[in-house]
Amino acid sequence: MDKIEHIGIAVKSLEASNALFAKLLGVPHYKIEEVASEGVKTSFFQSGPNKIELLEATNSESPIAKFLEKKGEGIHHVAFAVEDIVAEIARLKAEGFTVLNEIPKQGADNKLVAFLHPKGTNGVLVELCQEIKER
Ligand code: ZN
Repeated sequence: MDKIEHIGIAVKSLEASNALFAKLLGVPHYKIEEVASEGVKTSFFQSGPNKIELLEATNSESPIAKFLEKKGEGIHHVAFAVEDIVAEIARLKAEGFTVLNEIPKQGADNKLVAFLHPKGTNGVLVELCQEIKER
């Protein structure tokens, strides 16, 4: 795995939290993107070399809705950049981690993503993400 690509934070209201994080970081969000298949609307902030993703649920079945119900607002996942997500999934499976989706799926921000079950990672939901290269 490479660097931390971003930190994902579950919020109740993207609108309210966009304003809050703009104040906190001193920069406005640079994009909003909906991932309909996941039931989430996301916004992204760039703070120096670091990226923050805010996630709001778009329906009650959304994993973010369930997270908010159980844990409330807060850090939802830590995402690591990987060069080859298929190879990394195979490596982590061989190491005994539970991969929630063994076939990478299209995530926000032009990425292929896969998640590791937090039960195997000290309670931290880990996202792997690989940049989708333009051809
Ligand atoms: Zn993410």
